[in-house]
Amino acid sequence: MGESQQSQPSQGTSSSSSSAPHSASQSSSSGSGTLSSLETLPTQDLASIPEEVDEKSSNPWGRLWALGRGFVNHDCVNDEYIFGRDKLCDYTFDRPIINQMERYKTYSKKHFRIFREVGPGPSPVAYIEDLSGNGTFLNAELIGHRKTLPLMNNAEIAISLPTNKVFLFTDLLTDDQSIYPIEFRQKYIMSKTIGSGACGEVKLAFEKSTCKKVAVKVINKRKFSLSSSCLDQSASVETEIEILKKISHPCIIKIENFIDTDDCFYIVLELMEGGELFDRILKSRLKESTVKLYFYQILLAVQHLHDNGIIHRDLKLENVLLSSTNEECCIKVTDFGQSKILGETSLMRTLCGTPTYLAPEVLNTAGTGGYSRAVDYWSLGVILFICLSGYPPFSESNCNRSLKDQITLGLYNFIPAAWQHVPQPALDLVKRLLVIDPEERLTTRQALEHPWLQDDNMKSFADRLMYDVAHPMPPPTQHFMSRKRGHEADFMDASTSTCSEASSLYEKRAKK
Ligand code: ADP
Repeated sequence: MGESQQSQPSQGTSSSSSSAPHSASQSSSSGSGTLSSLETLPTQDLASIPEEVDEKSSNPWGRLWALGRGFVNHDCVNDEYIFGRDKLCDYTFDRPIINQMERYKTYSKKHFRIFREVGPGPSPVAYIEDLSGNGTFLNAELIGHRKTLPLMNNAEIAISLPTNKVFLFTDLLTDDQSIYPIEFRQKYIMSKTIGSGACGEVKLAFEKSTCKKVAVKVINKRKFSLSSSCLDQSASVETEIEILKKISHPCIIKIENFIDTDDCFYIVLELMEGGELFDRILKSRLKESTVKLYFYQILLAVQHLHDNGIIHRDLKLENVLLSSTNEECCIKVTDFGQSKILGETSLMRTLCGTPTYLAPEVLNTAGTGGYSRAVDYWSLGVILFICLSGYPPFSESNCNRSLKDQITLGLYNFIPAAWQHVPQPALDLVKRLLVIDPEERLTTRQALEHPWLQDDNMKSFADRLMYDVAHPMPPPTQHFMSRKRGHEADFMDASTSTCSEASSLYEKRAKK
């Protein structure tokens, strides 16, 4: 799966059929040069092919973004392209990386055809035809030999195996892009949805100038009863955004751009390919050394936010994203300052969900106060508790007391079996963070000085990881997931913990 989903680093957007950086043997696909015409055309007739370029046809109608290693972006200008191993194909799979791969042998000489035909209606529709022996897949579905399917915007094309993705198709003529504001379209091409949360959808997009992938959070203002006609609010949002954009730390998601329209906010974020820490914990219990590596980075991130006057207020496993699918990787905290952009409404939605991570003082003031940095220290304690033990400290499934009582009285659920392999210093740090009195709670700075984190090897490894991510992001290696929140069944599948309490973590997922 890995290889097929790795995207080529930026190839530029000018890879039209005539200028695509194909190998030297790549057939020129100028004019009507499809494979069939080239195969049958007598050579003496070649000179008679008109050479003038049709102005209209030089505008691409579709763009194939390379997803597979060795593949390059390809603009569709002509009405038809054939893709395959054959040198006479319009797009030949003959680049060294491709033809050195084991699976190269499974590619057909003519693997698939992309073409467009007029109708229904006056505008052309793009199609893909499977010409292969081993199959061409559209969004992981086999097309079938000699069968044709419409090629929709954002469709993923895979060859020989449904997971061997080679291209993402962008229909440049449909008005899909036009639903996005011009300020956005000037810089980005919006692609598929990669997630959805309480505030709206998160989409993959490509930065036009660099082909860099970014994540775009699209927030519908109506959902939050926000209006940019409210000048005061607009002005304050601008100020907040300027502050948030300046936040730069290897363990904090970078806000790259922010576009404010009448209906929506478009928050352009650095893309993270490894998913949420929440999902990582569902898959398997983390090693103590991994928890230490992650928690150290989370502390650095939160400390940096605090040093810049930002209290996160919504720290939770879902807001810690991973840079890769490797266990030992860089983490980044996200969704900081969202309440500053969306106002209290957004945060209140979160707070109205299960209060797993909420500090006692927030519950005691019914969410109307207690917003000192200490609320983040508490949430950090909850995060560390779950990472180390695999279950949440406060849970509705503990029927003896209400959830609010458990939190406000600091009665965390201690299951000895789940903690038996956790070193005492790690548990000690949890206890010092989950302190009811905010004044007595450990700060991030104090937590960083805690004995459990005095591990030079871990720190220098974390520094290396952070240094690496501070440099341009590597190409994606992971399948994008699109899913809604509150999938309690996620946890049912988890072979996370032997502790039956692990399942109660479900209900802790922010219900939005
Ligand atoms: P919420 O607002 O409910 O916290 P988000 O809108 O932040 O949720 O995220 C929704 C989904 O999009 C999540 O699955 C999250 O992993 C994904 N996501 C959010 N930000 C990014 C990003 N920068 N890179 C990749 N995926 C992201």
